[in-house]
Amino acid sequence: MGGNYKIAVIPGDGIGPEIVGQTLRVLDQIGVTYGHHFKYEEMLAGGCAIDATGEPLPVETVAGCQKCDAVLLGAVGGDKWDDLPGPKRPEMALLGLRGQLGLYANLRPALLYKQLRDACPLKPEIIGERIDLLVVRELTGGIYFGPKGRRDTAAKGQEAFDTEVYSEAEVERITRMAFEIARGRQRRVTNVDKANVLESSRLWRAVVTRVAADYPEVALNHMYVDNAAMQLVRDPKQFDVIVTTNMFGDILSDEASMITGSIGMLPSASLGQGNFGLYEPVHGSAPDLAGQDRANPIATILSAAMMLRYSFGLTQEAEAIESAVERVLEAGYRTGDIMSPGQTLVGTEKMGQLICEYIAKGA
Ligand code: NAD
Repeated sequence: MGGNYKIAVIPGDGIGPEIVGQTLRVLDQIGVTYGHHFKYEEMLAGGCAIDATGEPLPVETVAGCQKCDAVLLGAVGGDKWDDLPGPKRPEMALLGLRGQLGLYANLRPALLYKQLRDACPLKPEIIGERIDLLVVRELTGGIYFGPKGRRDTAAKGQEAFDTEVYSEAEVERITRMAFEIARGRQRRVTNVDKANVLESSRLWRAVVTRVAADYPEVALNHMYVDNAAMQLVRDPKQFDVIVTTNMFGDILSDEASMITGSIGMLPSASLGQGNFGLYEPVHGSAPDLAGQDRANPIATILSAAMMLRYSFGLTQEAEAIESAVERVLEAGYRTGDIMSPGQTLVGTEKMGQLICEYIAKGA
């Protein structure tokens, strides 16, 4: 028996509507093949919301998302709104959604498809068979949200400070999420901190170690963040799931994403309590490509696969999308951003259509 799922859809600006359009097409194909029904509620956020309502994140959008099982977001922003003051900018919609929807964990997979190995800046012997890691970043605590300010000192002029603050409860919930996810992967978690210097990291590490005892089937190792930054380019194959703080995760997830070659291939998920989550590509609204059928929809389509896996528990359906993407790449189809000699160039719509066809044939 198939399920019924209600998805809040926020196409946003620039290429957002095009890549989200192809992603809904892929979800519809999953619905047909596996007997599910996906209901979409379209909502405004970002620049288009500013034009329509004067606000980047209308209250109706937050309320609407809260009534759905998950959120699919394209991208927001563009030159048209660049001169607006900070709180009125389209990107504020992203921070607002994360905060108001209580999304405390950010998941960014870095998966290098063997068909795109040439796009990876690392040497073939470092890449090996496959790179497939997942950064689980704490999203609502740490130094980005701790006490901050400036003060005048007589001797040294102005002083500024930011504070890293983590509670046991905050560390425990992100650690449990990382271990639960690792159970369905290769069962390895690397905790990244700076426990040789920071007191907050010492508490972080103690909590991670304590929680790990509840997951004896998952192996845990600890790594200082400076070493982790080095290991990601020296031997990325060693990682399965990396769990880390807000700031370290911000930096390491960008580093990890570089090894996959193209920003057009990178999905992400932001998860909160229960099964609720917001799913979006890592890239922005690419105004240079908007309306030209040139954007790569794969990052958004893979974000929908994450939605099926993490919010709806539909593992087989998520794998069907991922495998269809792999088969399409295998067959040599490429959008402009991942194009290489001898391959077939296709547009946004054709890429969506091909992925649907491979899902329909059981990839
Ligand atoms: P961007 O990610 O939009 O684009 C960077 C480069 O990558 C561009 O050359 C673009 O053409 C290319 N690119 C991005 N996505 C692609 C795709 N799917 N297929 C093919 N090529 C792709 O970043 P930017 O240019 O720095 O920002 C553009 C706008 O997007 C800005 O207004 C920025 O604030 C906003 N932005 C939004 C988000 C978001 O919504 N999550 C994230 C980053 C930037």
